[in-house]
Amino acid sequence: MGQSLDKVPVEGLRGVGPRIAERLARLGIGSVQDLLFHLPLRYQDRTRLVPIAQLRVGDEVLVEGDVTASEIGYGRRRSLKVWLTDRSGGGILLRFFHFSGNQAAGLQRGASLRCFGEVRQGPQSLEMVHPEYQRRGVGDSGPLDASLTPIYPTTEGLQQSSWRALTDQAMALLGPGEGLVAELLPQKILRRFQLPLLVEALRLLHRPPISVTAADLRERRCPAFRRLAFEELVAHQLSLRRLRRRQQRVGAPVLAGDGQLRGRLLAGLPFSLTEAQRRVSGEIAADLLRPHPMLRLLQGDVGSGKTVVAALAALQALEAGFQVALMAPTELLSEQHLRNLRGWIEPLGIQPLWLAGRHKGRERAELVARIAGGEAMMIVGTHALFQEDVAFRDLGLAIVDEQHRFGVHQRMRLREKGARDGRAPHQLIMTATPIPRSLAMTLYADLDLSVIDEAPPGRTPVTTVAVPDSRRDEVIVRVQDACGQGRQAYWVCTLIEESEVLQCQAAEDTARTLAESLPELRVGLVHGRLKSVEREGVMAGFAAGELDLLVATTVIEVGVDVPNASLMIIENPERLGLAQLHQLRGRVGRGAVESHCVLLYHAPLARQARGRLSILRETTDGFEIARRDLEMRGPGEVLGTRQTGDMQFRIADPATDEPLLAAAQQTADLMLDEHAENVRPLIERWFGARADYGGV
Ligand code: ADP
Ligand code: MG
Repeated sequence: MGQSLDKVPVEGLRGVGPRIAERLARLGIGSVQDLLFHLPLRYQDRTRLVPIAQLRVGDEVLVEGDVTASEIGYGRRRSLKVWLTDRSGGGILLRFFHFSGNQAAGLQRGASLRCFGEVRQGPQSLEMVHPEYQRRGVGDSGPLDASLTPIYPTTEGLQQSSWRALTDQAMALLGPGEGLVAELLPQKILRRFQLPLLVEALRLLHRPPISVTAADLRERRCPAFRRLAFEELVAHQLSLRRLRRRQQRVGAPVLAGDGQLRGRLLAGLPFSLTEAQRRVSGEIAADLLRPHPMLRLLQGDVGSGKTVVAALAALQALEAGFQVALMAPTELLSEQHLRNLRGWIEPLGIQPLWLAGRHKGRERAELVARIAGGEAMMIVGTHALFQEDVAFRDLGLAIVDEQHRFGVHQRMRLREKGARDGRAPHQLIMTATPIPRSLAMTLYADLDLSVIDEAPPGRTPVTTVAVPDSRRDEVIVRVQDACGQGRQAYWVCTLIEESEVLQCQAAEDTARTLAESLPELRVGLVHGRLKSVEREGVMAGFAAGELDLLVATTVIEVGVDVPNASLMIIENPERLGLAQLHQLRGRVGRGAVESHCVLLYHAPLARQARGRLSILRETTDGFEIARRDLEMRGPGEVLGTRQTGDMQFRIADPATDEPLLAAAQQTADLMLDEHAENVRPLIERWFGARADYGGV
């Protein structure tokens, strides 16, 4: 019996010296077992030849044919162009930007080639750019590969051939039968869900047998995928629950207020809370009375009224004499929160303090001192509040808006930051990305969940149409009509460029031309580069009905609330994601009048963009939109976790693996109860050092 492979360092493998070991370490690979859990990203199929006539864009394929012509082209960029045809009657252009004279000479008419590459749509025909190729002798076809070729995720300085050599050795060490990697899932679970043994799954994914097709793997149809995805989901559940348990051992202030401030806020509101708002407020209020930190995610579609729920929670903490921090991902958003809060809590005698990036030097020092000294009780800012050296006197509650832009790591850091003497503040996290409940419970298994599933009354659904920008004039007439009837409108300019300067310029230009075409209308302009007083002035003017048309960049995505605005034009909506479009559109449809949204797109639309726009036309339900967004883009994109590197699943895909989620939760429960000794190794196997998130 050999040693269990989690104890065997990769340095023992042939070809692994200090340099390679260091590169592997960068990917979190230290042991041979880690190497086996470094799974292929995808597979190339070099087991069969595809007739050229059957090629489709995006295919990665092996083809064979004869060169019918070749030339060196001098277009925008010098390139060698080689036409290849086969007996299927199809032809494809091979294009090389880098080539030697010898290479060009070898690719003349009459040469016979076998090529592997990705099929792309060129200007005139299908193309392969820089395919791998081999010249063939007459009638000599050479053998094809027997099985699919795994392609591993990699880092600089590690070729696919090295990965294959390394995993070959790891597979050999794994040995036959049950192998030297521990099976950590309980047998009865494997039987109940008909999952193969771990070692079998690993063998199959690293070296797919002939019987497994490329399509099986691509569509994740084989049980090996299910097995590993399942194990990863279980590991993920366990790691979040472990965090949660640790959190439960921490203390938190009991925020028992007398209800005075809350009562006064409610009495002063021009509306009464919806049933859903009442319910979630109750859940939060109960949490705040417990001596352990609340960790609650408040989900609610745009416009569902999360802010007032947050304000009630804040007042409960303030009543109890504790500080509250309200954080938003951008300064602009935090400013809008500040404005909202002022309207609600200043009448109660509470002055919110705003700490922003623009506060510098003495001014900043003064603000920070007021937070540390406890003169400021209600603090509004960006999450920089928690990264910078801001100390609170007695933080009772931290409210984080727009959770989907924060990852697990930030969540953890937040918890640590407020913690002192074994006590941590309560946390309320708000998100307008309504993800399906089962998915939320997977991704946020360390949080409790409250959902506002009801819009305030008196809203009429927004009707959405898509119009090509060739009909811009008609749209302008529509704006004129709406405003002529006393309504107000938004005109949102978007630009794909990162540059805020360009975005703002575009909005300025649009505002100018619209003002020229619509001289009878009062046109305002807001964008991110205006000074905040100017911006506030324009917003306030629009809210007061002193402006008819507000031209804006996507800064108005959040916070603006003008019920009389019933028309929104979004220029170039094809450049935005579904969630963002939904957020933008949420600015209209807030009053009783029927509202419209015009998606003024630039033709022709790509297929994906057309799909997005038609989803928006079909529904205004944020949950439905989120579900379809997930299908189209995958959870990493939707939740904004991809960029932060947080919550990157290696093999599981919580959207498509949804049927596995409930089973993974049950399994996590079972393991905590009956197989506690396997919990730690399972988490470490999948998340390694990441599992501790800074040792909360
Ligand atoms: P979001 O959930 O998107 O943050 P807001 O909190 O900004 O939504 O609320 C949107 C608008 O709805 C605000 O003008 C708010 O005052 C109003 N509102 C909130 N709750 C109610 C309610 N129960 N009845 C009527 N209007 C409400
Ligand atoms: Mg909000």
